[in-house]
Amino acid sequence: MTDENRFRQRLLEMKRIRTQRLRRIDREVRHEGMSADWSEQASERENDEVLESLGNNSEIELQMIEHALRRLDDGNYFYCHNCGEKIPEARLELLPFTPYCVDCAEEFEPRDN
Ligand SMILES: [Zn+2]
Repeated sequence: MTDENRFRQRLLEMKRIRTQRLRRIDREVRHEGMSADWSEQASERENDEVLESLGNNSEIELQMIEHALRRLDDGNYFYCHNCGEKIPEARLELLPFTPYCVDCAEEFEPRDN
């Protein structure tokens, strides 16, 4: 299998997992089979916030995965979106949907720590 196909497989698998997760979160937030008890509803509401933030992460990741798949199609996948340098394969193994090399990621994806 070529590197390209290998990464495509991984991205499609990541996409599948996140799509399923989003669907599940969606169902739970909509409360199919809502409980009548007030205290239970309060804890369900807290749960919703956790679920929603999980959902938001999944959505952002899904968008990045879609972009990565498009870049694979265009043949840009292995090159940094910002500077055009080749992204080390070890980095793509860890973050298959990153569009940036390490240097640019520090600039564009600021971390808290
Ligand atoms: Zn770069």
